[in-house]
Amino acid sequence: SNIFFRPIEKINAVIESYPKGIAGFKRYLEIIDTEPDIADSPDAITVDRVKGNIHFDHITFGYDTGRPILSQIDLTIKTGETIAFVGPSGAGKTTICSLLPRFYDVDEGSITIDGIDIRDFKLESLRKHIGIVQQDVFLFSGTIRENIAYGDLQATEEQIWEAARRASLAELIRNQPDGLDTVIGERGVKLSGGQKQRLSIARMFLKNPPILILDEATSALDTETESAIQQSLAELSVGRTTLVIAHRLSTIRHADRIVVVNEHGIAEQGKHDELLATGGIYSRLNQLQPN
Ligand code: ATP
Repeated sequence: SNIFFRPIEKINAVIESYPKGIAGFKRYLEIIDTEPDIADSPDAITVDRVKGNIHFDHITFGYDTGRPILSQIDLTIKTGETIAFVGPSGAGKTTICSLLPRFYDVDEGSITIDGIDIRDFKLESLRKHIGIVQQDVFLFSGTIRENIAYGDLQATEEQIWEAARRASLAELIRNQPDGLDTVIGERGVKLSGGQKQRLSIARMFLKNPPILILDEATSALDTETESAIQQSLAELSVGRTTLVIAHRLSTIRHADRIVVVNEHGIAEQGKHDELLATGGIYSRLNQLQPN
């Protein structure tokens, strides 16, 4: 199929809410090119508010027909719960999370939010409730203000400062000669990786979605920045249903629940201590990757 035959306003709507998607604009183009089914159903609804109860109801999904990556996954995530997916590379942690904003549709089963099938939401309405924070942060050339306000174009000055403060960015901004109007990017101030992440966290405080997907950094920032950012993310996830795609074990100890995914599906789940005590896959991973 051809991207140019798709209604342009639909493409814009999705790019607006997901400048980098879960794995970048490129993958987004792949999706709309190969998954013409992802569209609003004729009687799709706008849902103004969700609490964030998520149910993966016996879902099966594969990128290629007949080759499921995920098979009969059944998982309930309660409002406000933080759930961390761990497991070997390629097991499907990212894939599970990318089904929620409908980057792909399941082959069997269904996913519901507050009991409503996600295919019954207008796509834009569904994605409004889901925030994605990832390592590869999308910032555009412009001011700090514009980059934060991207999370909510109607935000007031006060709300922007509040978001910056909660993401521990306020001091950095105050130290710039032009404050919020400081230009960043190619023609302005260069931000470090950690500062960019803070900016995307500030943006997410403004967007204020009830559901969060955190795609954890694979490579560590320096330890100090790392723990400061973990702290901001922990604060961001308070009161939101949070799905963490975990690449390192050290950061997910305090998750309400850890779900171990392997090539056979969900292998085990529980709290850190419970999983260590049962001596299964998670405890072996911990022995291999101590800290
Ligand atoms: P990692 O820890 O390396 O990020 P993961 O557990 O998140 O791995 P996924 O990225 O979900 O694993 O990938 C699961 C499987 O699906 C892998 O075999 C991967 O190669 C395949 N896969 C991922 N994305 C696509 C895609 N867009 N098209 C086809 N296959 C894909």
